[in-house]
Amino acid sequence: MSTHIHIIEDEKGDVVDYNYFCSDLCNQSFCGEHDLHYDGEYGQVEHDANVLCENCEEPLRGLTNEHGTDQTEEEWNSWKEEVKNLKLKPYLDVLQNKIGLEYR
Ligand SMILES: [Zn+2]
Repeated sequence: MSTHIHIIEDEKGDVVDYNYFCSDLCNQSFCGEHDLHYDGEYGQVEHDANVLCENCEEPLRGLTNEHGTDQTEEEWNSWKEEVKNLKLKPYLDVLQNKIGLEYR
């Protein structure tokens, strides 16, 4: 597990959320771009759900599947495939609109 996190705290210092990253580099550049305080490297984090790197959208493997049990290699691969298709879809729609327009 090589997930890195950036902890988001409220003004009282309570943890309110996490940003997930594939690498410390992505953590740093995301914090830089979004005016967040970079707290130093925080890697090797384990998390239950699959997530995407907040910065580059690299899929990051979680421990469990949607049923809350251990995620198998197969489930992980199909999740990645699904995400890839979701990310491609907006581009495909744009492409199809463009083709549609050219036919008018
Ligand atoms: Zn990344």
